[in-house]
Amino acid sequence: MRASDATRIYFDRAAEQLDLSESMRRLLLTAKREVQVQIAIERDSGELATFIGYRVQHNDARGPLKGGLRYHPQVDLDEVRSLASLMTWKTAVVDIPYGGAKGGVAIDPSACSLRELERVTRKFVDTIHDLFGPDVDIPAPDMGTTPDMMAWIMNQYGKYHGFSPACVTGKPVEYHGLPGRDEATGRGVGSLTLKLLSRLGRKIPGTRVAIQGFGNVGTHTAKYLRDAECKIVAVGDATGAFHRAEGIDVLELLRHARANAGRLAGFTGGDTISNAELLAIDCDVLIPAALGGVITAANAASVRSPIVIEAANAPVEPDADDILASRGVVVLPDILANAGGVTASWFEWVQNRQHYQWGLDRVRGELDRILGQAFEQVWQLSTSRQVPLRTAAYMLGVGRVARATVLGGIT
Ligand code: NAD
Repeated sequence: MRASDATRIYFDRAAEQLDLSESMRRLLLTAKREVQVQIAIERDSGELATFIGYRVQHNDARGPLKGGLRYHPQVDLDEVRSLASLMTWKTAVVDIPYGGAKGGVAIDPSACSLRELERVTRKFVDTIHDLFGPDVDIPAPDMGTTPDMMAWIMNQYGKYHGFSPACVTGKPVEYHGLPGRDEATGRGVGSLTLKLLSRLGRKIPGTRVAIQGFGNVGTHTAKYLRDAECKIVAVGDATGAFHRAEGIDVLELLRHARANAGRLAGFTGGDTISNAELLAIDCDVLIPAALGGVITAANAASVRSPIVIEAANAPVEPDADDILASRGVVVLPDILANAGGVTASWFEWVQNRQHYQWGLDRVRGELDRILGQAFEQVWQLSTSRQVPLRTAAYMLGVGRVARATVLGGIT
């Protein structure tokens, strides 16, 4: 299924519940602007290389557009379009004053030198610098992009528009970044998992958790839940997956990953399992925190966890979502579960605009408050309307964007 078809299905379910008119649905589904550009650079070898870059600016009814920039060989317009609309609903669910956008370059960063990536990034800014900025559209890191790249974006943008740290978020802390931005998505996933467990009347200490993905989101989620006395029984990444019913030593796993360029392969503190086995492991909470589309109609029936937390974007396909729902599995949807990242990005933007430095305690406190509030609103709507958490989250997000569109006026 195409990525945009999946988000469309979830949107339609919410629009139905909200009784939105056909014309409002069309307006909300259609991107405000879609840009495709060619980026040509000279490789270190002197050869010419060209790449295609995209920026989809989906909807700015609630504020400036906000969304990550992804470097991956499979990036295409359909994926970027789908992720841009997810951002619109995500910023609305947590009620931060942004719209939604997404960008990407079809490039394999692992096949480029750092200098080549810098040239690509600066050239991309050269071609689209008039289309983004602090009050217009604010990019951030995503898969394949790093804080250093955000620093290059800020620097290149400044050559055209002057000192503008708020033109991009996810920058290094020592270059106008926010303390705690790196942990924010995982912290949010962890804190929302605890809220859901409490709401479901389940005991937190000893909760058995399985996590797919041990990158930025997976590591911080694992640390947070370990500190809350949950038991991380299985973890996997692209290089290997491991299981230990008594609980994996998370600190040992982190040490292993750090010593092996982030890879889990070779870890000896658990039994080796396949990634498919990880998704079907006996546990209380399953957290896909790697790729989209990993739980499909083909494997949804084998998921044994009663709770799935969508830390990755779109890890559960709509057909699989229906199968999980019919089996009583509770799914906390991506537009709420991983919204900690964009919420902290908002803090960074506020900090940059104030020319002031936030402290870590303030970042954590505000993050927990905003996510906790959004969770309660989604939970209440889900209970009062008897709909799954995903539909409730979309109803909250889509409803807020529709309302802002009406309040802004269409003449
Ligand atoms: P990352 O690149 O830091 O880590 C990705 C992890 O997934 C790595 O451990 C990698 O080995 C693993 N992985 C890749 N392919 C895999 C496979 N086939 N099987 C198992 N594991 C595999 O990325 P991240 O920043 O942690 O993001 C993870 C997900 O969360 C993505 O879907 C991303 O869009 C989403 N997300 C991230 C943030 C953020 O702030 N980083 C915010 C919102 C959503």
